[in-house]
Formats: sequence, C-alpha cells, structure tokens
Amino acid sequence: MAELLKGKPVVESIAADLAPSIAALKQTGVTPTLAIVRVGERPDDLSYERTARKRAESLGCAVRPFALDAFAPQEELEAVLREVNHDATIHGCLLFRPLPSFIDETQVCELLDPQKDIDGITLASLASVFTDGAVGYPPATAAACMHMLDHYRVPLEGKHVVVVGRSLVVGKPVSMLLLRRNASVTMCHSKTENLPAICRSADVVICATGRARGFGAEFFSPGQTVLDVGINFDASGNLCGDVDFDAVKPIVAAITPVPGGIGTVTTSVTMAHTVAAAQVAEQCASLRL
Ligand code: NAP
Repeated sequence: MAELLKGKPVVESIAADLAPSIAALKQTGVTPTLAIVRVGERPDDLSYERTARKRAESLGCAVRPFALDAFAPQEELEAVLREVNHDATIHGCLLFRPLPSFIDETQVCELLDPQKDIDGITLASLASVFTDGAVGYPPATAAACMHMLDHYRVPLEGKHVVVVGRSLVVGKPVSMLLLRRNASVTMCHSKTENLPAICRSADVVICATGRARGFGAEFFSPGQTVLDVGINFDASGNLCGDVDFDAVKPIVAAITPVPGGIGTVTTSVTMAHTVAAAQVAEQCASLRL
C-alpha cells in the first residue's frame, strides 16, 4: 500500500522555516502582506481566499482583500493593480483567474510589479522560470509540487518524471523546475499518444489535467511516486483529484491525497513567496536610507 504524501507536514515545515524571517521583519516594523484581488464571487475563489487568510494569520502575516464586482470594467481592475504596486505595505499580490472574458487577462497581469508577483503571472516571472532567472516567483502550485517532492525526499536527479498537463499555471512551470533539478521530464497533454504506457514508464508522475479521476490503474506501475494536482468535483459533487485514488493507491509507492495534498501546500507557498518579497523590499528600502 502506498505511502500517503500529506500536505500538512509540508505546511508545518514551511511555517517553521518562515518563522525566523517573519519575526525579523516584524522587528523592523514590517508585516508581510498579501493583496488578494478578486473579480466576482466564484465559490472556489472565495474558498481559496478564506484558506489564504487563515494561513496568513497563523503565520503572523496579513491579507489585504480587493474585491471587485463581477462586471467591473478593466480600468477598475487596472487601477487596483496600480494601487497594489504603489503601496509599499503590500509585498505580494494574488490575482484570481480566470478573469471575466471581457477583460484582457495578459494586459492586466503585465501591470503587476514583478517584485510583487508571488504567483508567477507576469511574463517576466515566467521567463525567469524558463531561464533559471531571479525575477519574481514561480507559480505557487508548481512550486508546491517541488516542496512536496523535497519534503518527502523523492529523488529527482536522473529520474524520469512525466508531467501530464501543459498549462502555464502548473504543467509548463513545474516541468522547468524539475529540469533545473536534473530530472528527465516528459511533458504530456490531450494529444499525447500511448499516455498510459508513458506514465507507467516514469519514476514520478504529476497529473494536472482537471479530469476527475481520469487516471486509473492502467496509468501506473509499482514503485512510482504520484502527485495529484487536480482539484475537481465528480458527478456527485464530491471533491476529487485527477487520479482514481482508491484504484491507484494499492499499486504505487507514494501518492498525494485530494483533498489534503498539493492544494494544502499551495497556500503556504504563496505566503512563503510573500515573505521573500517582503524581505527583498525591506533590503531595498534599507539600501535607500
Ligand atoms: P488547464 O489550464 O485546463 O490545463 C489542463 C491541461 O491538461 C492541458 O494541458 C490539457 O491538454 C491537459 N489535458 C486535458 N485532458 C487531458 C487528457 N485527457 N489527457 C492528457 N492531458 C489532458 O488546467 P490547469 O489550470 O493546469 O489545472 C489542472 C488541474 O489542477 C485542475 O483540476 C485544477 O483545478 C488544478 N489546480 C490545482 C491547484 C492547486 O493548488 N492544487 C492550482 C491550480 C490548478 P491540452 O493542452 O492539449 O489541452
């Protein structure tokens, strides 16, 4: 039976690592602060906002919500991002997406100061992920996968990792972060042929497709580590991942649950990036004095 790679111990470890940095910032009068910008009231956004707020409070950080009407014009959203950029007491910004279709998402994302881009939404941050640069931060979910693998000491160097899904939020950035760690990465998507066989050949499989329980026993083989990034609802309205957990758990060596896996770690990574951004801002401010 597989080892369960739960998110909670990773969350606790990140919190312990962050505590000295947050305490040091507080001594200089700085509380790491995350702006959450939300357009409308999508239930998943509201739920993420509540979780982020709780996580921030438990760490001694702060959240500043900016809630816009579902039909707010693009100019209003742009004004909020300019306010976030200019407010020195805000260190990171999380913009919930997808934005309504009448808003030019790329144009809006590009407005954010890359130093406050703790979720890898600007082209500068994404370029950094692809070039091993130091601008901004990688998307939090991709970074959460790496935290999970590192916490449970999953070997990556020279190992074959199959990433299913090629979005800019998860699949592409996590593939680049894995390459940085000398994994041999195969990126798969909806047009990939022989996907079950490719997945079975991997040491580590990361599923990020949004297909509720779409990955059954035929995709996996003994000894593998499986990261399930999916957050889906099945036909009965139950929260589930991309992997058919009950069918796959008896086969593989280790697997993340849904809920309680990658999603749990993502909010902690968001806060870790915010604390790092606050440290950079504080260093820049002290150099200017
Ligand atoms: P997305 O933008 O819709 O991308 C889905 C990817 O999966 C696409 O690349 C698509 O391929 C691929 N795909 C779809 N059906 C497939 C199939 N049958 N076989 C192989 N590949 C297939 O989704 P996303 O934003 O990356 O999110 C993916 C999942 O992760 C969702 O369940 C989402 O809720 C979850 N998520 C979780 C977190 C977290 O914190 N845990 C954060 C973000 C997202 P094509 O490119 O060919 O269309």
